[in-house]
Amino acid sequence: MADHDHHDHAHDHPHDHGSELSPMELRVRALESILVEKGYVDPAALDTLIDTYETKIGPRNGAQVVARAWMDPAYRARLLDDATAAIRELGFGGRGGEHMMVVANTPEEHNMVVCTLCSCYPWPVLGLPPVWYKSPPYRSRAVIDPRGVLREFGVDLPATTRIRVWDSTAELRYMVLPMRPAGTEQLDEAALADLVTRDSMIGTGLPLSPEQGVRA
Ligand code: FE
Repeated sequence: MADHDHHDHAHDHPHDHGSELSPMELRVRALESILVEKGYVDPAALDTLIDTYETKIGPRNGAQVVARAWMDPAYRARLLDDATAAIRELGFGGRGGEHMMVVANTPEEHNMVVCTLCSCYPWPVLGLPPVWYKSPPYRSRAVIDPRGVLREFGVDLPATTRIRVWDSTAELRYMVLPMRPAGTEQLDEAALADLVTRDSMIGTGLPLSPEQGVRA
């Protein structure tokens, strides 16, 4: 893809060609070994911290963006028109979110995001990418068989729903605006945000229903 220009970003944007580690990954690994060896960090604590950013803290920013778009049609329009600016309105931006595009799901069309070359991901709204997002099988199969991949994620869409796959790059990163779940008319913005899962903003999942949200 012509606009998939990763070459200028090699220093901060590791490519995973097989098992080869990038210079940055090697440095991180070396640093981690030293910190563990000297007893400054506990590897388990580090894993917990990373998991927190990957699944809890990071994606909550995106969830706020989605909830605002569900509540406020004018915000939704701004978000679809210029995502970077609309996301900045809520205070989120910076590295990995310089050029954002938000694509909205409808009953006719479901959007799903992948980075076929490496792992481009909108950090300011979603945090750290999950391991599967960076994995070669997801990166190749999301394009070849998106419906099959979705089924493995537990998402079974009607045959009439088109699936559109967006290839994120370092220059343009996508986020999905999922459809607002039914039965949420009475919920306020904070309660709506609680229904927005990370995967629903990548397109490999759907938001929780209000009943699921209460249990979560
Ligand atoms: Fe990438």
